[in-house]
Amino acid sequence: MSIRRVVLFIGPPGSGKGTLAQLCVQKLGWVQISTGDLCRQHMAQGSDLGKKIDFAIKSGKLVSDALINAMVFDWFKEYTPVSDTVILDGYPRTVQQAKDFKQLLSQFDPSLALIVVAFDIDDKTVIERLSSRYVCQNKECQKVYSLRPGSSLAPQKEMICDDCGDPLGRRKDDEPVAIKERLKVYHQHEQELLSFYKKSGYSIWHLKSDMPLKELFALFKEKMGGC
Ligand code: ADP
Repeated sequence: MSIRRVVLFIGPPGSGKGTLAQLCVQKLGWVQISTGDLCRQHMAQGSDLGKKIDFAIKSGKLVSDALINAMVFDWFKEYTPVSDTVILDGYPRTVQQAKDFKQLLSQFDPSLALIVVAFDIDDKTVIERLSSRYVCQNKECQKVYSLRPGSSLAPQKEMICDDCGDPLGRRKDDEPVAIKERLKVYHQHEQELLSFYKKSGYSIWHLKSDMPLKELFALFKEKMGGC
């Protein structure tokens, strides 16, 4: 097995990138790399890298391109393919990351297909979502839940992870001040990043992501040609 295509999920925080990626992992057997999860794993382990990125994450700022690229590049170096499709969730977020990643792919396998998916959602919905988001505190799990009334992402037992039984908690960067900062930072980079891909000849799939997850998944699968 080798990697045939890489799908980039580009979208604001809370737009459902991670949730849709998880569904693709469960239902289609794809592989997801979330640079946010990699960062949180380093922080939870208290590694030197974790200490370096702690402040940026908690205050809703971006971690430096060099550190993020190093994490992604290491992942690709060490990865033994178990699926032909890899989703990159939350990477690249800057044009510099996009350029460096393009170079990495050309060395890794120039024939790889790159699919760019942009999640479209308004800031008000994002703020509502993030304010009711809870995450499994087990650093190996990090499953995401929503406590919004009627949400299909609610845990079965109150504040307990369905998958591993660990308690749920808030992410430090889901505090109101950090949410505002993350949205600001996202919008600062969004257009430049999408323009970079357009200029490089990629068509961008826009997914309106404020619909129920089941519908979003069905629409995404249809766009991917049934996968
Ligand atoms: P969200 O997209 O909801 O903000 P993530 O879990 O993807 O959440 O990322 C959390 C934080 O990790 C970001 O606010 C940022 O500090 C850091 N991070 C994740 N991916 C990147 C990236 N590609 N470049 C820079 N920083 C990143």
